[in-house]
Amino acid sequence: AAQRVTRFATTVFSEFSALAARHGAVNLGQGFPDFDGPAAIKEAAQRAIRDGGNQYAMGAGARELRVAIAEHSARFYGQTVDPDTMVTVTSGATEAILDTLLGLVDPGDEVVAFEPFYDSYDANITFVGATARFVPLRPPDADHAQWWFDRDEVRAAFSPRTRLLILNTPHNPTGKVFTRDELTFLGELCAEFDVKVLSDEVYEHLVFEPARHLRPATLPGLAERTVTVSSGGKTFSLTGWKVGWVIAPPPLRDAVQRAHQFVTFATAAPLQAAMAEALRLPDAYFTELTASYAAKRERLLTGLREAGLTAFAPEGSYFILADITRQGFADDVAFCRHLVSKVGVAAIPPSVFYGPAHRHLGQGLARFAFCKTDAVLDEAVRRLRAGL
Ligand code: PMP
Ligand code: GLN
Repeated sequence: AAQRVTRFATTVFSEFSALAARHGAVNLGQGFPDFDGPAAIKEAAQRAIRDGGNQYAMGAGARELRVAIAEHSARFYGQTVDPDTMVTVTSGATEAILDTLLGLVDPGDEVVAFEPFYDSYDANITFVGATARFVPLRPPDADHAQWWFDRDEVRAAFSPRTRLLILNTPHNPTGKVFTRDELTFLGELCAEFDVKVLSDEVYEHLVFEPARHLRPATLPGLAERTVTVSSGGKTFSLTGWKVGWVIAPPPLRDAVQRAHQFVTFATAAPLQAAMAEALRLPDAYFTELTASYAAKRERLLTGLREAGLTAFAPEGSYFILADITRQGFADDVAFCRHLVSKVGVAAIPPSVFYGPAHRHLGQGLARFAFCKTDAVLDEAVRRLRAGL
């Protein structure tokens, strides 16, 4: 295999989903809902297939989907988006992240990202020949109600070689929702070093009161330097569709589009037609989704605490991190292997979301997903209470 892939064996998600299947474990590992998105949206995709929308879509994305993405940005964030010059539709946020790195970052450049990070960031930074500078998020403590970062540590990670800052809000796996004050600080730092921003917002609609999702691209100073990435997988419980998108000012979007045209060229046409309908669902769909997830979050938080784990309450996303340091295992991987094989519950060991220097920070944690039906969450809690 080529050097750029030797460091990346099977992803932790595939590994633990396979282990969960083999051991008949309840799978709270890989983040995917065990329920499907709205019936009307699935029917819209079937209709598009039946009615002949089955050839290549436009490379930048079907126009009706680009218009729907622009309307959604105006409706929820008051953001003005030109569907013709500021949007590219991609095969999931995963492709959007790679396209952004390919379009904006040269070999030898540096990219700053927070730890724990979504695993594809690290791999994609390597693929483009850049160097990652990771800054750890710190857990809540006496002075911080939520996960936080040390501003001096972030500043120290920036240099004249820094090209891109990767943000993820709401954040997987901590559930942190970045505040206006934090984003303003990061925006000023990026302006000072002339750094672009990739803002991964795939959990934009999974945010729990009193937290509110702020789109970095709507803040002064960030609009002209930010590539916003999102997708419909989480918002519409359709993770298998892999329809994502990039929203960026024309020069940045043009750079991303140049990469996209030679990565996948275009995304599945009938699914784009259905995703345009999904983005136009009434406000009630989005509020009900959030309310349903708020209840699931409460259910799993309570259950994990009853099972004796110290669980951090997330402000967003569909993940809960728990402190496992008092469980008596060497590290998070040993704990999660025991959990899946002996207790019958799959969770993800977060140390894989850290670079080598900070890996120890993840070794006292486990990530549990709550994008599951209540009966499945209850069964997981029953097993944890009996087996931990
Ligand atoms: N970013 C983050 C933070 C994620 O959690 C995920 C999904 N696991 C993705 C990107 C990928 O999204 P998609 O499925 O749309 O490619
Ligand atoms: N985003 C999902 C998670 O964090 C998994 C996506 C994947 O399997 N690549 O669990």
